[in-house]
Amino acid sequence: MVLEIALNLQLHAPVALHRTRAGVQFVETLDYIPGTALRGALAEAYLTEHGAPDNTFRALFLSEQVQYGDLWPSLEGQQAILLPATAQACKRHGLKHDQSFRDSLLDVWNTLGNDRKCPVCGESLDRVSGYLGRLDPVKPISPRSRLRVSTAIERGTGTVAREMLFTQHTLVGLGTPDNKQLLLFQGIVRLFDPTLQSELMRLLQPNTTLFLGAGRSRGLGQVEVKAWSKVPATELLAERCQQFNATAQRAGGDASKRYFSLTLLSHLALRDDLLRPVLGEITPQHLGLPDGVTWVRYPGSDQPVLFLSAISVPGWNAAIGLPKPDTVALMRGSVLLGQCDATQEQAVLARLTQIEAEGVGERRNEGFGRVAVCYPIHYTCWR
Ligand SMILES: [Zn+2]
Repeated sequence: MVLEIALNLQLHAPVALHRTRAGVQFVETLDYIPGTALRGALAEAYLTEHGAPDNTFRALFLSEQVQYGDLWPSLEGQQAILLPATAQACKRHGLKHDQSFRDSLLDVWNTLGNDRKCPVCGESLDRVSGYLGRLDPVKPISPRSRLRVSTAIERGTGTVAREMLFTQHTLVGLGTPDNKQLLLFQGIVRLFDPTLQSELMRLLQPNTTLFLGAGRSRGLGQVEVKAWSKVPATELLAERCQQFNATAQRAGGDASKRYFSLTLLSHLALRDDLLRPVLGEITPQHLGLPDGVTWVRYPGSDQPVLFLSAISVPGWNAAIGLPKPDTVALMRGSVLLGQCDATQEQAVLARLTQIEAEGVGERRNEGFGRVAVCYPIHYTCWR
């Protein structure tokens, strides 16, 4: 039985979460807190209290028993939605023209989607990324970032490096400067071993201060545990699949097939039997789906319906202060469209349920490999 805990963190100082390896002069920040950073911050807090790593430490941070998910920017009381690679909005005004917002995944059976225009200004549509706080009406969540110029610190001595300046993007808050809203980061921690619950809850007590990301020697990265709670129940996977299929039929799908989408909510690091990273050549069987399950293909074409990007995620070993090898992964937001025959439906649903509950691939304890099956945006926002 998996226990899922929803965690809310509040920013107390700007946070710098590097998109690329530090060492280049201009460093961008991520707009979310990767599970890796959360795990690192909690591990550090644990060691500060207990000294050397013990068995509880290993179970909490180095085993597969706890998965620290990515934390997304969110507004109080709302569950954030990650915009998938199939989301579209007005090319010129983006989500400001909220009526233009739609999801294009189920356009696969006809090409009308290419000619769609913004109902407000008539401009064509383009891909849109980011987060929504709400679908209807569309409410985007945009964390603000700010540029900071800092002096570099010598790693060895901890002192200011001479004649070394660099600029750094940091996350500071939500909304515009004159309309500041509270920036929360929301994510889910999954616990597979219930005996670890009390220790984990102790580390995540409300009002606990944690330190995240880069620049901590300059006062960056202070966050506070605001609240945690049990994850609210979502619609059952079977019901979501049913609604997804009803919309797929309206969109021109084959009535004898069962369709499902897989939306990557975090990066997916998968390897094949020969330990090679699996990227664009991914098959349903790489994900443990039964033989016979295939990707949907565009009509009259061999091209599978996959919206994929690859990313190289830099690693950092804090213990020895050296880089770890990069992980090549499929990027969060990627979408895959699968199908099977009606006779296979139950077997496929069983595996899909497992994929959603446990994740897939490597580095799952750092939040990698979270997948949503039939993510509601694909059928509620297709029109
Ligand atoms: Zn427009």
